[in-house]
Amino acid sequence: MTLPRIKVLALGGTIATRPDASGAMQMGLGADDLVAAVPALATLAAIDAETVSRVGSHSLGFDQIHALAAKIAVLDADGVIVTQGTDTLEETAFLLDLLLDRDIPVIVTAAMRNPALTSPDGPGNLLAAVRVAGNPWVRAHARALGVMAVMLDEVFAASDVLKIHPTRLNAFAAPQTGPLAALVEDRVVPLALPVRDAMTHTRARIGDVAGAREQPVALLWMGLDEPGFMLEAMLDHRDQLGYRGVVLGAMGGGHVPERIAPLVGQLAGLLPTVVSPRAGAGGPMLRQTYGGPSSEIALRKEGLIWGGRLQPLKARVLLETCLRGGLDHAAIAEVFDAWG
Ligand code: ASP
Repeated sequence: MTLPRIKVLALGGTIATRPDASGAMQMGLGADDLVAAVPALATLAAIDAETVSRVGSHSLGFDQIHALAAKIAVLDADGVIVTQGTDTLEETAFLLDLLLDRDIPVIVTAAMRNPALTSPDGPGNLLAAVRVAGNPWVRAHARALGVMAVMLDEVFAASDVLKIHPTRLNAFAAPQTGPLAALVEDRVVPLALPVRDAMTHTRARIGDVAGAREQPVALLWMGLDEPGFMLEAMLDHRDQLGYRGVVLGAMGGGHVPERIAPLVGQLAGLLPTVVSPRAGAGGPMLRQTYGGPSSEIALRKEGLIWGGRLQPLKARVLLETCLRGGLDHAAIAEVFDAWG
């Protein structure tokens, strides 16, 4: 039997750390080290390992992920596995999904427990990712599945996966949709195919963003009695600050405190400003239920872009990508509208 050719691209993260003299974990392991730590991989795939970087995912940049996507787009392989840190995996996987349209499995995996701890999860997650990449159902539906995240024996869609805990092993979930597949014994058990209409529509509207410049997007979380000083700073000093767009982590079905509603409205006239649900899992917001000056009805009339079901971190990734693609306010609103 011919083994699938799987490319492992290592970016860094906890999965790639080792202790320094003080015992603190530092980036250090490369792709070859990660593969060598899991001898069973050789029975599942012909692995080609490459170290792309050795950085924590909290320090990855949009441009690095764009470069990674460009590399993956032309790889001659049967599947691709990206190893990285968990901190931004929910964002990088979504960005890769926006940028890639391949008919081979592309999987992001990571580790919550570092290699110096008892029961580190990195080797098991890498083994699971390779098993998923070589699975016949996954390979047959690779384009329909899009980029996937494999963590703790579950497979998640990039547009739905969230990091829901800072330290525990079971830190990843897709609260709105559940997993696409589960691993048990040596099997990959299919559970669902993701709904990809919004992603397909988005990709068609954004087009090719290769070579486009970074478009800084601010993320402002709305909390109880938010006074709006940051909004005022953006209105008064837009050019000095340099942001090209804003995502508001809004309350409930799409609300902000009434005292800052006028500022939010002014900001929407100045910069593409997306309203996205701060409530844990994301999810479709209201459009026409509540009245009043800071309700969803009023904010939508003021030109706020409705973020659909994407939670704020993913909405920020999408807005940055739309801006790279040169989309104007109306086109950005239309893209987000497809997300519910
Ligand atoms: N700070 C690390 C990172 O994201 C945490 C991890 O890998 O889990 O790179």
